Amino acid sequence: MQARRLCQPLRKRLCILGSTGSVGRQTLQVIRDHPERFQVVGLSAHRSIDALSRQAAEFQSAAVCLSEPGAKVPRSDGGPRWLSGPEGLLDLIEAVAPDLVVVAVVGAAGLAPTLRALERGLPVALANKETLVTGGELVMAAARARGVPILPMDSEHSAIAQCLAEKSPALIRRIVLTASGGPFRGRTRAALETVTVEEALRHPTWRMGPKITIDSATLMNKGFEIIEGAHLFSLPVDRFEIVIHPQSTLHAAVEFLDGSMLAQMAVPDMALPIAQALAWPERLCLARLPALDLAALGTLAFERPDPTTFPCLELAREAARRGGTFPAALNAANEVAVARFLAGELRFLEIPEVIEAVLEAHESLGAADLTAIFEADAWARRRAAELSFSRR
Ligand code: MG
Repeated sequence: MQARRLCQPLRKRLCILGSTGSVGRQTLQVIRDHPERFQVVGLSAHRSIDALSRQAAEFQSAAVCLSEPGAKVPRSDGGPRWLSGPEGLLDLIEAVAPDLVVVAVVGAAGLAPTLRALERGLPVALANKETLVTGGELVMAAARARGVPILPMDSEHSAIAQCLAEKSPALIRRIVLTASGGPFRGRTRAALETVTVEEALRHPTWRMGPKITIDSATLMNKGFEIIEGAHLFSLPVDRFEIVIHPQSTLHAAVEFLDGSMLAQMAVPDMALPIAQALAWPERLCLARLPALDLAALGTLAFERPDPTTFPCLELAREAARRGGTFPAALNAANEVAVARFLAGELRFLEIPEVIEAVLEAHESLGAADLTAIFEADAWARRRAAELSFSRR
């Protein structure tokens, strides 16, 4: 009965930052399905106080945080301990001292809590790619200094980690990250002149929040994933190749020096990378997921991305090559441009134009310490918010 014993370790105590978002809710579903494996001790949301209260009651979380600056929170009498503001996220990690911190917040807000967790020697399951895009060097240095793992919750990076199985980066010739291509795959630039927010939000294969869905439509999501992967697996960005694969079944492949390629395949469902990170190095039985039926799938298609229609990919590579605070400026400009597109202030093709203009004006603030990163972030946000385009 050794297998049975292996399946019943002490329950892992989890703190989930961003628990009311898309990845946060899917993480709680995996936990709901495996109550013998996991216990929730801390939860946070940005401003969804009702959803957060319901989750805290269901999972009997010891402490919760509403992270919006100046957020008003209930008194703690009888229920969980309530914390608030961006600082509250750091206090939450300290207060509950979990076995694993899940970082599933949106945007650059993931950086400070990720660093705090790693500095305390706590493993991090990372769903937020902006954390590594903006502060990759700091984050990886903190993880190395304390010898703690960063477990990727991004499907492609989860796939790479599985293919690598801790092999040395020196054995790798190339990493292929696949992209579904988003809702605008195969369209020309001219065809994207007039696309609406609704069309951009209609992702063909993945269910995700609005910010990342737009990033998938522009392919900036893949640009971020290249930078994320370069940090996680200690490889230069030019070793990463993006291949469009509309079925979203093969998530990533690693090519070794001898030309042999290992790939990971699975149905496109975030439950899988989430469960991988929560249970690493073990695996959970995910009874809810349909089996991958290769014969029913029939064919897997692969094609090269179109750099003219989707310039965000090259913008991200270039920001990574320039280093310093360029990736932080890239991320901030993208966040503002996407928010302005969602608000109807920018057209779809103006998203990369805003980012390019911000990067052109950026002067790297040298070594990317936390102060320089936040400064570059704030500067790029102001700049991206000011830019306007004459309607043609
Ligand atoms: Mg991904």
